[in-house]
Amino acid sequence: MTETIGFIGLGNMGLPMCLRLIGEGFNVVAYDLRDAPLDEAVAAGAVRGLDVADVAACADILLTSLPRPDHVDAVMRAGGALAALRPGSLWADLTTNRREFVETLATEAPDGVAVVDSPVTGAVDGARNGRLTLFAGGPDEGLARVVPILAKLGRVIECGPLGTGNVVKLVTNQLWFIHAAAIGEGFALGMANGVELPVLYDAITDSVGDSFVARHDGPSIFAGHYDPSFTLDLCLKDLGLLSELGDRVNAELTMTRAAHEVFEDAAERYGRDVGELHVAKRLEDDADLSFRMAGDWVAPWDVSD
Ligand code: NAD
Repeated sequence: MTETIGFIGLGNMGLPMCLRLIGEGFNVVAYDLRDAPLDEAVAAGAVRGLDVADVAACADILLTSLPRPDHVDAVMRAGGALAALRPGSLWADLTTNRREFVETLATEAPDGVAVVDSPVTGAVDGARNGRLTLFAGGPDEGLARVVPILAKLGRVIECGPLGTGNVVKLVTNQLWFIHAAAIGEGFALGMANGVELPVLYDAITDSVGDSFVARHDGPSIFAGHYDPSFTLDLCLKDLGLLSELGDRVNAELTMTRAAHEVFEDAAERYGRDVGELHVAKRLEDDADLSFRMAGDWVAPWDVSD
């Protein structure tokens, strides 16, 4: 493997992805504004990038995993990473981003630079264990080049032209948000009508009520940390992007709008920097119930094979 991978954004998702690529034997040049995750990547074998433009200039394949479109703007435009990309290199953005923005940045890229969008799903545990699902969009030759690398992080679904990766990712989150907004209502309804939470959970996970939210995220509610590895701020970013995509649908997306409203309400009550499952805590507080449940709940960021 002679290609150099540049990796910018070593957060909850980016750091474990970066560490996996280092573990797979790739040459990685890494950068983050924060020292702690950059030190961890360097200790694992990455070269310390001087800044984002330095990483882009070194990279045959540049990967970015940043919170929101404005962070991508700061890195790729203001930070000079886009202009620093060499002809023949490729930029794959793993951020859940606005499709039109990625398309615009692709038109601003230097000649001979390929651009792919590949947002991911599977949470921090999926990133740590190489079991993400990645939604890749872009030109055929760009996908052919980058998919074998992304496949080290999980399963890659090729979605179509540039931007479709973000559309597919956001649809999967649209359905997750609706489930997450609903599960606290299910717990509250059962408990307020005399059923113990362990009985409810057993029934939900062995019935038509089952879901990824129930299995993967129920434990974060029971443990009472509500999963801070994905914040309400990022949920609201995605819900805003979904609302933009929804404007193109010639029908009312009632469930999506309702989910957006309850996530907004959670952020107003508890702040934007807390865990995503605070959307269910609203029901505990409103109905004077507790969803704490004893169990061997492993937090998503503590999972290892
Ligand atoms: P995060 O906030 O944990 O990490 C973002 C990282 O980017 C931080 O380390 C931050 O220091 C760094 N950063 C910000 N601005 C920078 C700059 N100008 N230069 C260099 N580094 C910079 O975010 P995350 O949870 O890892 O999410 C990353 C992306 O993945 C988001 O788009 C999110 O929606 C998506 N996502 C997250 C999860 C999850 O469970 N956390 C799951 C799927 C997808």
